[in-house]
Amino acid sequence: MVKAVVGANWGDEGKGKITDMLAKDADIIVRFQGGANAGHTIVNNYGKFALHTLPSGVFYDHTTSIIGNGVALNIPILFEEIKSITDKNVPMPKILVSNRAQIVMPYHILFDQYEEERLGKASFGSTKSGIAPFYSDKYAKIGYQVSELFDEELLKEKVVRTCETKNVLLEHLYHKPLLDPDELLETLHSYRDMVAPYVCDVSLYLWNALKEGKTILLEGQLGTLKDPDHGIYPMVTSSSTLAAYGAIGAGIPAQSIEQVVTVCKAYSSAVGAGAFVSEIFGEEADELRRRGGDGGEFGATTGRPRRMGWFDCVASKYGCRMQGTTDVAFTVLDVLGYLDEIPVCVGYDIDGEVTTEFPVTSRLEKAKPVLKTLPGWKCDIRGIKKYEDLPENCRNYIEFVEKEIGFPITMISNGPGRDDIIYRS
Ligand code: GDP
Repeated sequence: MVKAVVGANWGDEGKGKITDMLAKDADIIVRFQGGANAGHTIVNNYGKFALHTLPSGVFYDHTTSIIGNGVALNIPILFEEIKSITDKNVPMPKILVSNRAQIVMPYHILFDQYEEERLGKASFGSTKSGIAPFYSDKYAKIGYQVSELFDEELLKEKVVRTCETKNVLLEHLYHKPLLDPDELLETLHSYRDMVAPYVCDVSLYLWNALKEGKTILLEGQLGTLKDPDHGIYPMVTSSSTLAAYGAIGAGIPAQSIEQVVTVCKAYSSAVGAGAFVSEIFGEEADELRRRGGDGGEFGATTGRPRRMGWFDCVASKYGCRMQGTTDVAFTVLDVLGYLDEIPVCVGYDIDGEVTTEFPVTSRLEKAKPVLKTLPGWKCDIRGIKKYEDLPENCRNYIEFVEKEIGFPITMISNGPGRDDIIYRS
């Protein structure tokens, strides 16, 4: 059976921790979209790790970790990451890379930087990992598939074509150094040698695994609101963040995804530009940012301070609906223990009308939060294992959110560790 772990919000909900936890009972963990532009932070018995490309299951020796065809594969980063975990005594994970995954090229990263530079103040707040130029090329059908690394004739001819088109922009739009086909070919040879031992017909591998009754976890990156179709376009990422896309980005039948665990954070945070209705500022935001996550809300890839806000029922209800949620994992609840009162956004006021349905971007930008204040619980809830043992105001907060979003909260995360979890039926 297949389970997906995805985000309801803007990312950084704690998917890494939930995947790492669920990976204990899984055989295979697959990354199906995105690239090294976002990261998961995982705390376990080996230490604390920031993963950008590797699936969060790499810390178990019974699992196979797969980079699916939907991923933007940065080959040098993949290998640096493998080294960073084996250097900390994690056993070498079993890794497979889809022969249909496409490769993030050095020029994708350059174009990402140059374009953000060119846009200046109007930039997207890209992490400059090359993701948008990568997916643009993929859909313009000028990308490089892993399988192509092993076709020398094709490569030799393709690097020349690539340099011709890219150099027009480099010369006339960006005024930057030009690409050289021989150098590019050499880079691709080094990528081929690095990735060769791991290349696999992943969809066939997963098909056989499903027939054998194996458990497969799909690990999403970012969250619903960053989906290119259903998110806050254009301030979105370039590949779909929805569980449904897991079928495509891994290469499995759509109906095989039986469980969708949508990770939803007990307050809001976002990186990059774009509308963020329940955002807070000043000392109130600084304090939540300082106390948030595990050691503060700062980007796992960039170290940038995250934008902070109260829990947004409107965005999260939509976020869960679009994922096809069967279970909500409600995370980082322990962080809110310092507050006397906890504001929650329960509606959007748009031109004087209140709605609880998440609107398109042009209307979202006009939305003002309608806040309701719930009483805090004023204590540390870490270490609690049973739902009944949570303070009453804490249970009320969970049950209030559950009612507003309309999906069952079956897991509550009250700390960054693997075992900081409360199951609720
Ligand atoms: P992801 O991209 O969705 O995996 O999220 P991140 O890893 O970027 O952010 C989650 C952060 O919160 C990480 O630093 C986690 O270690 C931490 N975290 C996850 N769950 C909890 C929790 O329940 N409580 C606390 N305090 N931290 C958590």
